[in-house]
Amino acid sequence: MIGGRHMSGGTGVIEIAAGVRSGAVTAVSVVEEHLDRIAAGDGEIHAFNTVVRERALAAAAAVDRAVADGRDPGPLAGVPVAVKDNMCTRGIPTTCSSRILEGWRPPYDATVVERLEAAGAVIVGKTNLDEFAMGSSTENSAFGPTRNPVDTTRVPGGSSGGSAAAVAAGFTPLSFGSDTGGSIRQPAALCGVVGVKPTYGAVSRYGLVAFASSLDQIGPLSRTVAESALAYDVIAGHDPRDSTSIDRVLAPVTARLDDGVDGLRVGIIAELSSQDIEGFEPAVVERSHQAADALASAGAKVEEVSIHSTIAGLSAYYMIAPAEASSNLARYDGVRYGLRRAGPNTAAMMRATRTTGFGDEVKRRIMLGTYALSAGYYDAFYGKAQRVRTIMIREFDRVYEDFDVLLTPTSPCVAFPFGAKADPITMYYNDVCTIPCNLTGHPAMSIPFGTGADDLPVGVQIMAPMLGEEDMFRAAAVVERAAIGSEGADR
Ligand code: GLN
Repeated sequence: MIGGRHMSGGTGVIEIAAGVRSGAVTAVSVVEEHLDRIAAGDGEIHAFNTVVRERALAAAAAVDRAVADGRDPGPLAGVPVAVKDNMCTRGIPTTCSSRILEGWRPPYDATVVERLEAAGAVIVGKTNLDEFAMGSSTENSAFGPTRNPVDTTRVPGGSSGGSAAAVAAGFTPLSFGSDTGGSIRQPAALCGVVGVKPTYGAVSRYGLVAFASSLDQIGPLSRTVAESALAYDVIAGHDPRDSTSIDRVLAPVTARLDDGVDGLRVGIIAELSSQDIEGFEPAVVERSHQAADALASAGAKVEEVSIHSTIAGLSAYYMIAPAEASSNLARYDGVRYGLRRAGPNTAAMMRATRTTGFGDEVKRRIMLGTYALSAGYYDAFYGKAQRVRTIMIREFDRVYEDFDVLLTPTSPCVAFPFGAKADPITMYYNDVCTIPCNLTGHPAMSIPFGTGADDLPVGVQIMAPMLGEEDMFRAAAVVERAAIGSEGADR
């Protein structure tokens, strides 16, 4: 074995909440134990940018008081959670792992943060990410990378690498990330945990620092499918403060989690699940076929299906996402937030601030995006990418007339060593399986399913149509059971 292994079990979300709610354990003791683990292990892993020890212990004490007073402390009572450092937390630094936000403390909480705290969860800290969520390895963080707890010589994936590592290392049983092109699912796969990107509009993005507004979604990461289902039920639902939030009552996914998949129509996307695709590790492809077999044994109807536009999704995404980012990141002007570098006039001050405040990848995206949106090129680049997006949405909609969920690997490869994908295009290619669901707005999640090269975790991705979370989660529960079963047999 190369590198250290720092995987840790620890008590799960559901057990903690049950224990705290019944008074069998105190939230303070649970939170203290997790803070101690972070203190002992995060020097090496660097999952966190900020740990809020005192604030967390005070919040835990408030949960214990609610229990003592006979008030309902909420479904996540006393559960320590880690939140990606691009979600606003009132009074707590929110950096997006960028120098440009140095010293900025948001004056308000993201809706997701509010809902978690209302449900009794205790926020212990803010997790590391690729700067402004641009990347697939967490190597683009201005504060140094996060290490994969499964093998510390490898990346944890990204951009929510800190959130995935926090769960894999046992620092918190639950964490939250954002997913614009795969940033929850891919690190979940590489760290061997569950990660969910909900339907666009199912979870409020109010207080999430915008990267690409038509693609961004917040979702949970946890060790088990049931824990993510519970977390999804807590954070999902309409929020008038996010104009893209879906205005209807969403069915709780926990209710049907154990319903099984009898008769469920499952499609394996041929373009993303063949041993012949360049850059796809054979073991990774093999695992997604084994997951499909497991669904078939449990009563699902499994068939291969072709979706031609999936491959073009990658190019479309890397036009649309930078275009939106170039516009969203214009607000970091040295006046409104964080860093300011002095200059003889306003333009020079802004130039100096942005030159020193942003890292290379962020600058690359801003330049690409500005170019794609500029007069004369708009139609050839941005317009064309939007047309690809429309074709893809239509193609998926057509396929979902015949299928309930779709299956692919989450990432073409297992966790890679630091520096292995130095060329940006090689790094972008990592998102080929996850990007389609951001472009369509559909939900998708990654479930750990055995191991691949060097005994590293592999994730299988389940996709569903708009608001198809119920089917997605119950299929995931079956895949999870099969994965645990086969691990028992393998070892
Ligand atoms: N890796 C992709 C990117 O760099 C996705 C990032 C994300 O989902 N935030 O854009």
